[in-house]
Amino acid sequence: MRAEVRSDKAGPFLPVIENATGQSPVLLVCEHASNALPAPWGNLGLSPDQTRAHIAWDPGALGLARGLAQRLDATLIHAPVSRLIYDCNRAPDMPGAMPIRSEVHDIPGNAAISAAERLARTQAVYLPWANGLHNLIAARIAQGRRPVIVTIHSFTPIYHGRPRAVEFGIIHDADPTLARSILAASPQTGLNAQLNEPYSAADDVTHTLRLHATPYGLQNAMLEIRNDLIADPQAEAAMADRLAPVLAAALHAAKAAA
Ligand SMILES: [Zn+2]
Repeated sequence: MRAEVRSDKAGPFLPVIENATGQSPVLLVCEHASNALPAPWGNLGLSPDQTRAHIAWDPGALGLARGLAQRLDATLIHAPVSRLIYDCNRAPDMPGAMPIRSEVHDIPGNAAISAAERLARTQAVYLPWANGLHNLIAARIAQGRRPVIVTIHSFTPIYHGRPRAVEFGIIHDADPTLARSILAASPQTGLNAQLNEPYSAADDVTHTLRLHATPYGLQNAMLEIRNDLIADPQAEAAMADRLAPVLAAALHAAKAAA
């Protein structure tokens, strides 16, 4: 099965901003919120099961991010398109931006895309996302409200056939300050929390932080929750109840250290 690709009229697919007037310094970011596979790309030759699986998005991440936004009074920005069309946490020249394979799944619609198609997807999905996020951050900096960038992700409990013990991963890019504060506050969650697991900046997963937080010297961290722990709305809300106080405590610690 081969997906038909006609992206000349695609997009732009604008990021979604929720609780725009949130007063928390935390700015929540969810690049993998959606498994939407809009026209002109369609299902990329994947089965319905595959488009519901973790390869297409981060199941539970948006619900958790919304729960945190509400509890912290934080603004949330999330991407409206599946990462299989364009992964907004990857630069346009990274193989993972438009992956030809994800874990054990080939992505037929990404198998032989041209430079023109890569540009079209970049213009339709990535640039609206990156510009929207940058606009939010620059506006807050201009107002003297330096945001704290926290990206929300989920990961699969079994990867390449191997179970993962970590439940709550806290990943940092160049500046580990916030990630370490979050780890220090995380025993109260009862979760198996680990720094730079199940992957780290060395795996090129911190593009958003590197592009949007580090140049401004903004505190930042990437949070990864094992997706079996946020598998339905009740579990997402319960996890938001566990993690909101951790973020609040980490912010407090960072403020005291500044
Ligand atoms: Zn993710």
